[in-house]
Amino acid sequence: MNPNLVFLEASGVVDASGVASSPGAVLAEFPASPDAERPLGCSILAAGDPQSVGAHEAARRAMRFSFEKEVIHPGLVNAHTHLDLTHIGPRDHDPGDGFVSWVRMILRERAREEEAIKTSVRLGVERSLAAGVVAVGDIAGVGQRAPLDALRESPLIGVSFIELFGLLEETAMSALENLATIIAERPRHARGVRLGVQPHAPYSASIHLYLACAHEAKRSGLPLSTHLAESPEEHELVETASGDFQTFLASMGVWSDDVAGSFGHGRTPVEHLREPLQQGGFLLAHLNDLASADIEALARTSSALAYCPRSSHYFGNDTSFGPHRYRELLDVGLNVCLGTDSIVNLRSGEGMPPISPLDDARFLFDSGEVDTDLLIGMVTTRGALALGLPDEWFTLQPGPCAGLAVTRAPAGSAGQDPAVRVLSGTHTRLLLGGNSRCEAGIVLHPAQQGQNGSGSRFAQ
Ligand SMILES: [Zn+2]
Repeated sequence: MNPNLVFLEASGVVDASGVASSPGAVLAEFPASPDAERPLGCSILAAGDPQSVGAHEAARRAMRFSFEKEVIHPGLVNAHTHLDLTHIGPRDHDPGDGFVSWVRMILRERAREEEAIKTSVRLGVERSLAAGVVAVGDIAGVGQRAPLDALRESPLIGVSFIELFGLLEETAMSALENLATIIAERPRHARGVRLGVQPHAPYSASIHLYLACAHEAKRSGLPLSTHLAESPEEHELVETASGDFQTFLASMGVWSDDVAGSFGHGRTPVEHLREPLQQGGFLLAHLNDLASADIEALARTSSALAYCPRSSHYFGNDTSFGPHRYRELLDVGLNVCLGTDSIVNLRSGEGMPPISPLDDARFLFDSGEVDTDLLIGMVTTRGALALGLPDEWFTLQPGPCAGLAVTRAPAGSAGQDPAVRVLSGTHTRLLLGGNSRCEAGIVLHPAQQGQNGSGSRFAQ
């Protein structure tokens, strides 16, 4: 027996690259020693139906594990989240109270000290790993490097997007200086988490700041993201230079003649950002508010969408703007993936919910999205591409794999389409994966780790 080889037999296997079998099996090999350059969970040797995987010459030497009630799938990618808000926990919100009241609540509640921010991010990492997530696009907060440091100490891989705020010229300039310092100080690819750049949103960042961010991202080879077309209040500000956001910005001392002059031209938020969107490949969070002309304009950019369905529903945006038009964005060639947004907008029964984009895919599935291959792709390969990660790391194809997760399939579903079984299943958990410098490439569900934190290689 080779302890670095495992034969995982399961009730099913599925990915977004065409691997689908119920029952199923995966033959995988762990790295013999941690490799700083490859933040990967394992190498897949074979995946598919148990007979063909069992015929692989290495199968005889593998340790065998059985997951009788579970479907194995790649580790998940959460393309848009805010792990630094995890300490706040889920909060009820009445959409009738408006988006700005929610923003004020976040400003009151968010952690400001470095250690407190790191503690919140670590809690978010734990809620992500527990749900089978191995890669995140994490929004790090205002010029903050603490979330980046906390992520780099964790098994998660992905991007930590440094946020830049600045409607006023002097604020934008100091945000850019701060970004330059962070870029100069931080190795860009260390420990599986890259640095990214995120001008926050049209209501908090000037066009000048957006253009400077797009320029810097291009120059430094950094991923680029922003919030766009999220709320009716954003639309009103951009179109008319008035409304709740105008009042809010004035109360924060960030309203001037220049700022007022940048809004109020009857544009949509997408039209407002036309020039920056043409400059850089933005990962756009939300896009709840889209006119048909906006979709045509986005088709001429290299943007991607991080759609957060439960967040859109939480804020009532699916009522304000109608059903989300992500399907039309796919049709014009945009990559669309899923994000959770922060834990604050995730409804919870009791305690802290998992932070999982698969739950957003389930939300869409339950809402009538029938393309199950698309949904699996939106939480694996499509999310990886949006974050600049190799999409093959999030498949069951032979080669490097960022992680494996399992989902408990519904009772009586044996033999059915494994993608449907994952989307209608429960209790998704990470089997292995993440940064190979942590736990020698293997991460167990935290609840399964031993008291000393080391745990056994596999716990079932
Ligand atoms: Zn967000």
